[in-house]
Amino acid sequence: MEAITEFYPLLSTPKNVVITMHQKPDGDALGSTLGLSRFLCKLGFKTTVISPTNWANFLNWLPGCKDVIDYETNLSLSEKLVSEADYLFCLDFNVFSRTKNLAGLLEKSKAVKILIDHHEEPQKAAFQYGISNTHKSSTAEMVYDFIADAGYAALIDLDIATCLYTGIMTDTGSFRFPSTKASVHQVITHFKQLGLQHTAIHERIYDSFRETRLRFLGNALLNRMEVLYQYNAAIMVVPRSDLIHFNTQTGDTEGLVNYMLALDGIKFAAIVIDREENARKWSFRSKGKFDVNKFARAHFNGGGHKNAAGGLSTEPLDEAVKQFKTVLKAYESELSEPYEY
Ligand code: 5GP
Ligand code: MN
Repeated sequence: MEAITEFYPLLSTPKNVVITMHQKPDGDALGSTLGLSRFLCKLGFKTTVISPTNWANFLNWLPGCKDVIDYETNLSLSEKLVSEADYLFCLDFNVFSRTKNLAGLLEKSKAVKILIDHHEEPQKAAFQYGISNTHKSSTAEMVYDFIADAGYAALIDLDIATCLYTGIMTDTGSFRFPSTKASVHQVITHFKQLGLQHTAIHERIYDSFRETRLRFLGNALLNRMEVLYQYNAAIMVVPRSDLIHFNTQTGDTEGLVNYMLALDGIKFAAIVIDREENARKWSFRSKGKFDVNKFARAHFNGGGHKNAAGGLSTEPLDEAVKQFKTVLKAYESELSEPYEY
């Protein structure tokens, strides 16, 4: 993979572009791809954003979101667009398997592939150009840097700012995670100068629950959480019956795992959701030194970042939970160390 700076001169010759992201895209995946798409359009590129799957309704208001193609419901159109693309931008994922059923199409595409991402251990050999920086708050911040470093900061308008802000805000936990460096606040200063409406964005993302989603959350906290004080850890086990009973939709479980970190002294939180026939989805979060990326890689076929990672189990739900509790034993001394700020 050549440095992304080597791609900058190619920005002066508009071509056909497909931009894609990880499955079940979150605020950073959609915000960064839509921000990049609008920027490239302003340079004269013909761009299409393709998502491997659907996404949460609370992201639909993002500028340009109505034009995003859901691969799962537009297979042949997606295949045509990828086959006609000169450039394939891959944002907010490190390995093609994160794009679910779209992975095969992306991997065999003849387009020049460009990676912009902040996850650990990317599949660098698969890309002609790219940047991987695990210290960055979000892929949206990296798209901002890409635009600014290439000399096009003046092209950033309110819509681009809105998309990129959404990615930065959601991936930094509203500017509270350690990844929120001075550079993040400098970017936001620029966005505010363009007229960014940050309160409206926050409300659309976080204050837009359906009643069933809030009751699902209440039930999970009351009935599905176990605090494992011995390990300074907590686990939430969400059975399929809850997803059916509360009529959950894509995005309804987002953020659930974080509530457990609100417990004083709890350093490690895990949630497992019995989502699909053949897969139990794990999310892991930590405060401080405990590395959930390593934990997810070692035990749950996953990965992500030091303080936020995910994974999968193919075993039934109760077996997956048993396995978690077994592997946790090996981390008892590490997790019982006093918390350091
Ligand atoms: P979440 O728990 O919100 O699904 O994901 C947390 C972080 O871990 C995100 O940065 C996400 O991209 C990453 N992640 C989630 N699930 C997986 C997985 O199965 N494999 C890998 N490599 N990363 C994951
Ligand atoms: Mn991200």
